[in-house]
Amino acid sequence: MISVEEALERILGEITMLNVTQVALPEALGLVLAEDVVAQEDMPPFANSAMDGFALLSRDSQPRDGHPARLRITGEVAAGYVAERAVEEGTAMRIMTGAPVPPGADTVIEVELTRSNGPSSEWVEIMQAVKPGNNIRPAGEDIRRGQTVLLRGTGIGPWEIGVLATLGWAKVPVTRRPHVAVLSTGDEVVDVDQPLQPGKIRNSNGYLLEAAIRQVGAEPHRLGVAQDTLESLRERFSEAIKYDLIITSGGVSVGDFDLVKNIMTEQGEINFWRINMRPGKPVAFGHIGGVPLLGLPGNPVSAAVTFELFGHPVIRKMLGHTRLFHPQIDVVVEDGVRERVMRRHYVRAHVTWQNGRFLARTTGNQGSHIMTSLLNANALVIVPEGGAQIHPGDTAKAIMLDWPEI
Ligand code: AMP
Ligand code: MG
Repeated sequence: MISVEEALERILGEITMLNVTQVALPEALGLVLAEDVVAQEDMPPFANSAMDGFALLSRDSQPRDGHPARLRITGEVAAGYVAERAVEEGTAMRIMTGAPVPPGADTVIEVELTRSNGPSSEWVEIMQAVKPGNNIRPAGEDIRRGQTVLLRGTGIGPWEIGVLATLGWAKVPVTRRPHVAVLSTGDEVVDVDQPLQPGKIRNSNGYLLEAAIRQVGAEPHRLGVAQDTLESLRERFSEAIKYDLIITSGGVSVGDFDLVKNIMTEQGEINFWRINMRPGKPVAFGHIGGVPLLGLPGNPVSAAVTFELFGHPVIRKMLGHTRLFHPQIDVVVEDGVRERVMRRHYVRAHVTWQNGRFLARTTGNQGSHIMTSLLNANALVIVPEGGAQIHPGDTAKAIMLDWPEI
């Protein structure tokens, strides 16, 4: 039986990022940039006004003989248009936020610091002297043409999408999104819309894993449930090998009907099939038809937890991410962990920030069949192997499941 760390090393050593493709900008969300993004234009592309107000020459803003300067209004420039004439000495032009600063003007005064005779006024009084450059956003202030704005390997979120849009990247070079086959196994497992006959349970793992796969950024493919026979498994695996990764649940333990390993030996290879952890000792990893296969346990909590520990970094590596793992933090385990187990124990918990520290509360019965122990859990408290005990108030490491990878 190998450690979690060795399992990760063996798995990730076999996984490479997928090839590069171009996607339409909106489709790039959750993917990883495959090239540096170099700006072809300045941003802003032209000097423009940060305020609604008046464009003028700064030296015209000085009061005369104790009276505010009074300037003739010669026109208006709205966002999206350019001024029809230059601003000359003794004149001002109405200007809106985002409109290009007209030639001649070297400053903008906000409307609140002026007085005029309403929207059709032909004059404006400048109530405060302003310096050159006031309220002007210079061309290239944000991004200069030729500047590298985003590096390859950057995960694309809504803010990156915004920057790519401003630079005109309608198509984005990204690492291809992995396609993942999801296969459940078990004669007892029926689909979600089926009535429960004696001895049967519904396929929770298939749907849980499909959702978890999508959440990491891969495209899941639902292959349904294979029966616990070699024929049924062979048939499903012949479909599964069309994808980038196969994730199965069940059938990898030591029972008479746990046949996934048999198929792996028959059609590929097993790298390992047991990890020194709880929940989830029976986790198998290997290849079938050249496609990596992660065989997760059948117990729903084990499947869920082992997906976060192993499936999550595998998919992130395929996506081209450099940060593969959920972050770990120190938490105070308010209620402690009473059970003593020899294997590394991942305890579902809810972590909150209270009085300057992270406080973890475990989610009750930690049996690997207790699906409700997943509810309200945002973290896995790690109890080291060897029967370590965590008393109420002790500090432990926790894996944060709903934080961005750091
Ligand atoms: P196995 O690893 O195949 O021995 O399954 C272990 C336990 O998980 C058994 O109690 C199964 O009934 C249960 N199980 C297996 N597959 C699923 C599934 N897709 N959904 C829910 N429970 C499952
Ligand atoms: Mg089974």
